[in-house]
Amino acid sequence: MRKSLYLSILFNFFIFFLVSSQEKSVIGRSVDDLPINLYKFGNGNQILIITAGIHGNEVNTSETAEFILNELIQKKIKIPNGKSLWIIPRLNPDGLLKNRRLNNNDVDLNRNFHTDNWQPLIYFSNNIFSAGNKPFSEPETQAIKKLFESLKDKKSVVVLSLHSAGDAIITGNDEYYNKQLANIVYENSDYLFDNIGYNTSGDMTGWLSDKLGIASLTVEFKTKKELDVKNVKRIIKGILDIDIYRSVYIESNRDFGKKYKNIDKIIKDLPKDIIDKIKKNKKAENDFLSNLRAIPKVSEELLIIVNKENLLPRNHVPKDLVELNNSYFKSNKNHYYLRRIILNDLKDMFTNSENDGIILLIVSAFRSYETQEEVFNSWVKQYGFDYASKISAKPGTSQHQLGTTIDFNSLEESFEKTKEGIWLKNNAFKYGFVMSYPKGLEKITGYNYEPWHFRYIGKEASYLVHNFFNENLELFLEWYWEINNNY
Ligand SMILES: [Zn+2]
Repeated sequence: MRKSLYLSILFNFFIFFLVSSQEKSVIGRSVDDLPINLYKFGNGNQILIITAGIHGNEVNTSETAEFILNELIQKKIKIPNGKSLWIIPRLNPDGLLKNRRLNNNDVDLNRNFHTDNWQPLIYFSNNIFSAGNKPFSEPETQAIKKLFESLKDKKSVVVLSLHSAGDAIITGNDEYYNKQLANIVYENSDYLFDNIGYNTSGDMTGWLSDKLGIASLTVEFKTKKELDVKNVKRIIKGILDIDIYRSVYIESNRDFGKKYKNIDKIIKDLPKDIIDKIKKNKKAENDFLSNLRAIPKVSEELLIIVNKENLLPRNHVPKDLVELNNSYFKSNKNHYYLRRIILNDLKDMFTNSENDGIILLIVSAFRSYETQEEVFNSWVKQYGFDYASKISAKPGTSQHQLGTTIDFNSLEESFEKTKEGIWLKNNAFKYGFVMSYPKGLEKITGYNYEPWHFRYIGKEASYLVHNFFNENLELFLEWYWEINNNY
């Protein structure tokens, strides 16, 4: 604690001499009358604003922001033309000095903003915190309110609020611009998740999104101790390299009204029973269309067709493979890999199944082309080529090479009768997973029934496969690409 105080004073002293007056300003003061500083770099009107240390016990976020400030001052980081980077490294100066979450009125500042769901008390891991007497009751949040309300062009601004530790990127609310910003941050970092498992009423990003329409995310570092300069610098570069207005606020606002406008035309070639399900009534039709339209463009790669006719190349290795962490995902052995993009929903599936008394176990995940070659050849040795082809994929035809496919618990047909097998069959779609080789579709898939084998295709697509396509993933994928390539 003392060391942190000493460093902070030393640092402010250092900054004082290096930053010219127009770059540094005081936007307000804490309960204990300490200044809240804002540092501005660049002179463009597209602005990335980074805040840190709103929770005083998350000192590593402030130290990371100050490390980057230092590099900006030394001109080690360049701000592109037309862009600006603003940094508020110590939003809760009182709390940071004491390594304490709250400010000196004992209020959790990140619950004191006026969101749609504001409430006065916060239950947080065995503690109850005050969110203040009312929204913006605190001088620190007042300072932030004044700053953001005074911004002229809010659609050229994006905000990141640095926290620790949750290993996640969390959107202020579900607006499309937040999702778009999250995609950009996700691509430029290695954080794993997109939620932290509890509600955060009254947080700054929620207020910015709900009330001002400003795209804003909470970034949760991986630990409470380490600085995370690497990820934050990558994210800064990623955001400053794009046209913020265009990429976050305009292009992402896809014209859903036009896409798939003629529903009869896009479903005309589907089997009659599926058309009947879609056209059952207006509600079913809307349900179908809204899920179809919600499939994010960025997730379309999750829908590529892999089967005996459509092979993956030998060198296809997903770029975001990560080794699974056993504390989140139970498995029968270590060193399983999956794509990072699916872990968030997978984590929810593990958590919620456990609440239902279900024990899911990963027994196979990503397999490389070469591994699949070995697996297949060993089956051929045992059973001959024809039978091996029915029970195992030839190299290049395995969905496991996608890094989005998992075998659960047991590779026996009897798995369908276990409570885990039944739970997966009924619930996996809620988390974006579908059974690739269901009973009765052996002729279409070319594979025997595999009640343990699930592929992740995203929640919207899995909803459609489950509710409209009779679990027929092959048919859905072929239809999806047909309408999207020809429409
Ligand atoms: Zn499998």
